[in-house]
Amino acid sequence: MTNGKTPPRIHVLAKPTGAICNLKCSYCFFLSKESLYPGSTFRMSDEVLDHYIRQLIEAHRANKVTVAWQGGEPTLMGIDFFRRAIEYQHKHQRPGMTFENTLQTNGTLLDDEWCEFFRDHGFLIGISVDGPRELHDAYRVNKRGRPTFDRVMGGLRLLQKHDVEYNILTTVNRLNADHPLEVYRFLRDQAGATWMQFIPAIERLDEQGVFLFQEGKMVSDRSVLPEQLGNFLVTIFDEWVRRDVGRVFVQTFEASVRNWLGLPSSGMCVFDATCGQGLAMEHNGDLYSCDHFVEPRHLLGNILRTHMIELTGLPQQKKFGRDKMETLPRCCRECEVRFACQGECPRNRFLTTQEEEPGMNYLCAGYKAFFHHIDGPMKILAALLRRGYPAAQLMEVLAENEGQSAKAFAKAGRNDPCPCGSGRKFKKCHGLEQTGKFREEPLNSARRSQ
Ligand code: SF4
Ligand code: SF4
Ligand code: SF4
Repeated sequence: MTNGKTPPRIHVLAKPTGAICNLKCSYCFFLSKESLYPGSTFRMSDEVLDHYIRQLIEAHRANKVTVAWQGGEPTLMGIDFFRRAIEYQHKHQRPGMTFENTLQTNGTLLDDEWCEFFRDHGFLIGISVDGPRELHDAYRVNKRGRPTFDRVMGGLRLLQKHDVEYNILTTVNRLNADHPLEVYRFLRDQAGATWMQFIPAIERLDEQGVFLFQEGKMVSDRSVLPEQLGNFLVTIFDEWVRRDVGRVFVQTFEASVRNWLGLPSSGMCVFDATCGQGLAMEHNGDLYSCDHFVEPRHLLGNILRTHMIELTGLPQQKKFGRDKMETLPRCCRECEVRFACQGECPRNRFLTTQEEEPGMNYLCAGYKAFFHHIDGPMKILAALLRRGYPAAQLMEVLAENEGQSAKAFAKAGRNDPCPCGSGRKFKKCHGLEQTGKFREEPLNSARRSQ
């Protein structure tokens, strides 16, 4: 089925229960998608499962196949469904092929049997935790509005007990965004996470205050504010870059390193120039352009009728991927940090620019602040990696720079040039606030801001 023109692999998020979940997180954009399939049982049939696995394998020229399970809550399918998924993988695999199953869960339904199954079949589990108890329970509640923290952490402890590989996905919302260090330290020190993803929570509302599809220019009061997101990432970055490089992996920081290195892909579709390589498949085999656009205008077709290779190659999907780059407004095209941000995700581009151009990203201010802030350390890190040094070396370099910087500031006289390199006198720059103290910025970040 594949040929030299097809990509080496197709990435599909399969949603075996569609949008159905046992929880009812206040900001969940999945749950409203239930209305797309009125009367459905929301359970993937064996026929769809078999077609899906076979076509996914046929769509791979590469020998490593990632099979990604999402929801709603995929564990609602029961463990036997996933046993059959593994059977079908063995049934259809080509010689030399290996599989990595990934599954995103809220963790509340996990038990020893699930975890043993995950370990035995090498699943990588993503578990959703929004921070310590009060921050997590603010929005992540069950159908009766009751908190879920204890059950989620119970699920996480079981994964740890059975040595299942996991990462933590944290939704950054209006509430926990004001507590970056509390969230990060909890995930690192209490939850034992070495890999974290931070996903901004944005619920768009139309004029009637309803959200269903990606429409409307307003956001709910649970949605993270752009500046909040920027501050959240900056604060966590500053802690990470001084003590955790090489031992804690934050997806946004890893993607940034790749962009500062100039690699072809950041590993995160939102920070790549184009997208469209990650599709979403509903429980009945309907294939959509992306998990964030499971809505009628982005339906490509159904895999029971048309092979997913053909659906992925449709002009509509190619255009979807190219549009990410081709519809960037001028402010993005001329932006200094475009190489790192790429206008982020089109789903968040619902504002107009000062010049009345559409396509301005709601999160722009936050990302701009963040990418400017990390520029100095990222340049050093990229240089270290290019020379073959381990990433953790960055922490030593920064400690040394900051020590020298502190000495230079301490020695500077009021009329001396400011050691930050601004060209201004110290008293008009970092000495401005000097009533015995200068601004506590590392030399690199001060230089960057010029
Ligand atoms: S656990 Fe996930 S799918 Fe379920 S309600 Fe919460 S955000 Fe939605
Ligand atoms: S629309 Fe956004 S989430 Fe979807 S593939 Fe493109 S960048 Fe990724
Ligand atoms: S920071 Fe703002 S202007 Fe720059 S690329 Fe990102 S969204 Fe566009």
